[in-house]
Amino acid sequence: MSFSFEVFETDPTGGRRGRLRTPHGTIETPAFMPVGTAATVKGLSQETLEELGAQILLANTYHLYLRPGHELIRRSGGLHRFMAWPRAILTDSGGYQVFSLSELCKIDDVGVRFRSHLDGSEHLLTPEKAAEIQLALGSDIAMVLDECIETPAPRPVAEAALRRTTAWARRAREYFLLRAGQEGYPAQWQFGIVQGATYADLRRESARQLLELDFPGYAVGGLAVGEPHEVTCEMATEVGALLPAERPRYLMGVGRPEQLPDYVACGMDMMDCVLPTRAARHACLYTTEGRVLIRNARYAEDARPIDPRCSCRVCQRYTRAYLRHLFASGEITAAVLATHHNVHFYLDTMRQIREAIYFGQLVNFAAELRARYVAGPA
Ligand SMILES: [Zn+2]
Repeated sequence: MSFSFEVFETDPTGGRRGRLRTPHGTIETPAFMPVGTAATVKGLSQETLEELGAQILLANTYHLYLRPGHELIRRSGGLHRFMAWPRAILTDSGGYQVFSLSELCKIDDVGVRFRSHLDGSEHLLTPEKAAEIQLALGSDIAMVLDECIETPAPRPVAEAALRRTTAWARRAREYFLLRAGQEGYPAQWQFGIVQGATYADLRRESARQLLELDFPGYAVGGLAVGEPHEVTCEMATEVGALLPAERPRYLMGVGRPEQLPDYVACGMDMMDCVLPTRAARHACLYTTEGRVLIRNARYAEDARPIDPRCSCRVCQRYTRAYLRHLFASGEITAAVLATHHNVHFYLDTMRQIREAIYFGQLVNFAAELRARYVAGPA
């Protein structure tokens, strides 16, 4: 079983419903990918993630390279076996974490030199090395190394990063094509990443350059990093219009629940975000009525579930009052139950988005969700 992608329907908004097949199972798109930074989605076991219906997880190359090390994971039979996750995995290139977490990060055309945030040891991440690490991990989808810059960026900075991103993508592609699927290497799909900050013409230029390298899928990177939501959507739409319809598109690092339908309407098929898991650990719950900040005193004796409309295991059993008590007491179960609900909510929202596309109703679904988030409790 190898890889394929097909689009079943396109909604009037431009939203697409489809299916991505990988050697580790099928992913219904548009898909939300829970983030399993260090080969675990914080607070959830793999059996729970299966129960929740997650079809693909994201794991962070930077973290796994530093600890426990990609060679250890290769010797353990690859990341799927190491973490006992039989379904699909996407790994990032490690670049974003190098730029945001490591110390003394120094970039040139060769790659990025950095010091580990764990022990201060020195490392060099190149486009070839990022591809090699992800082949060792054996993820289903690997990302090329790109240069991440801060937004808003002056145009010359964005242009220079774009040039380097394309040059690195070419090197990563050449390295990858010699190895993937060969003896001793896993079957894998490698995605290119479109950059260009918030300049529409640079986004288009980046997409055109990457199309020449013939990736089986394309990501849009460097967005949702502080620019207005409308700008994120405008850039994603510009890029989406140029990408081949028959290949999957991944918008990296988004987003808030009420924004997910907008990104889908931009023609995006895959998304990932730490928000549902990170917010859960900070007592922020996402519901059909908006955000519930469960530490709030108003929930002290509230016998309702987190979300009366939610079908998750936590909402079937526990009250808001109990959840609030667990957070107030600093119990780890608080994070476990809150994460369970939030990940269910994100996956269920995506399921409803797919259903809305099927019926050509994405624009209505988006408006309803947004209205509930504006009016809902906090
Ligand atoms: Zn729930």
